[in-house]
Amino acid sequence: MAENIVERDLTAIAGAIAGREISAEAAVSEFKKRIETLNPQINAYITVNDHCVEQAREIDVRLKKGENVGCLAGVPIAIKDMFCTKGLRTTAASKMLHNFVPTYSATVVKRLEEQGAIVMGKTNQDEFAMGSSNETSYFGNCKNPWNFEYVPGGSSGGSAAAVSARMAAGAIGTDTGGSIRQPANFCSLVGVKPTYGRVSRYGIVSFASSLDQAGPMTRTVRDAAIILEVISGRDELDSTSAPNDVPKWSERLSSDVRGMKIGMPKEYFQNGLDENVSKTVKRAADLLREKGAELIEISLPLTKFAVPIYYLVSACEASSNLSRYDGVRYGYRADFSKQAAADLDEFYCRNRGEGFGREVKRRIVLGAYALSSGYYDAYYKKACQVRRLLRQDFTDAFKKCDVILSPASPTPAFKIGERIDNPLAMYLNDIYTTSANLAGLPGMSVPGGFSKDNLPIGVQLLAAQFEEQKMFNVALAIEENLNLTKEVPRGLQ
Ligand code: GLN
Repeated sequence: MAENIVERDLTAIAGAIAGREISAEAAVSEFKKRIETLNPQINAYITVNDHCVEQAREIDVRLKKGENVGCLAGVPIAIKDMFCTKGLRTTAASKMLHNFVPTYSATVVKRLEEQGAIVMGKTNQDEFAMGSSNETSYFGNCKNPWNFEYVPGGSSGGSAAAVSARMAAGAIGTDTGGSIRQPANFCSLVGVKPTYGRVSRYGIVSFASSLDQAGPMTRTVRDAAIILEVISGRDELDSTSAPNDVPKWSERLSSDVRGMKIGMPKEYFQNGLDENVSKTVKRAADLLREKGAELIEISLPLTKFAVPIYYLVSACEASSNLSRYDGVRYGYRADFSKQAAADLDEFYCRNRGEGFGREVKRRIVLGAYALSSGYYDAYYKKACQVRRLLRQDFTDAFKKCDVILSPASPTPAFKIGERIDNPLAMYLNDIYTTSANLAGLPGMSVPGGFSKDNLPIGVQLLAAQFEEQKMFNVALAIEENLNLTKEVPRGLQ
């Protein structure tokens, strides 16, 4: 029994532990063994929680006493290294925070633990979540379990690789411009970015505060809905968290899509879209049509501005958020023992120059420039104005359809090293994902098939604000009909 626990999805694992078919300790130990064997090759975890088995044992004691431990009792979860975890190193994959051990946990982590989840460790990512390939991590890149020569996507690449390689039953990522959906798409997983404000950002390392959202990465739609129920909801510690009720999405799941209107934006199927990806999305559309949904063409005319607006707004916010890492209040301090800094400027320059990687510095410089007087109106203000219009495009679109179906990224996973020296090629990869963050909409990626080279391809679903249920239902219809959840990553066979 214990041996195949890692092959099950999160719902099944939670059920097996709650039904005492397997102890939390045995389940967590199996996942830990898996991490010990596979992590040296895949590099999905930056830090493993050495206390996970002990914590699982405590869950077993409580279960034996008949306590209600929670819906995730003993379930092994991986947490992206952007989330503060009390007593467990949190690095944001940066040298700047390489030895930072938080004194408190993020609300998301607290809520998971309150439901009995076991944190297996902290997953690899792009530095400060800036990237699409996991290659900007200070701790080395992470590999795609479907093919070790390829990137797992980013920035939540480690979370995707951990779940895909069965080193966790589910994971948490953050999505500022696609960082949950794109790696889920590259690793054949379900990845959900909820409506802005659904999930508290308290205790998450800030990248771009008006765009950042946390969400689940799992093997099935139901698993994702369950995790999202646990982590969502108003939090007094984050004033931007929404007061809206949290529906029981998992209980209301239905793959009945009859009469639903699914919009396909014509701008998302133009040049630059890989043929394998376009075929996969069209196949999902055909399937939904067969099941009784109505497919309609819609237009999102400002699509071409999504990437430029995103890279301006996110860089501006990042330059402000990352100013706290100065080597005094927070973060890495250079070694001044041999040569003292001549002045305060030099002190900051050395701390920040050595502590941050290239991509992070590039964003800080870009953001600081766009915010500087004389350029502010032309860049930041203009980007905010166009962002408002882009949001209107979606408001108009959702008058015509319930859910939008599109590609999640223009290509399947690319090779490690292929794009890292070409930032623009890397940024363009975010063309289909950034709009949801700019407009505050919920979005998700769900497995749709494989390319000719056997690499996973997902499809993206978007819904109007707080309409996650519609998106989950359409995703479930795709999942039930394609039957991809049991596929084992080729790199591990
Ligand atoms: N790839 C995007 C970027 O580099 C998105 C990152 C994210 O969502 N955290 O900024």
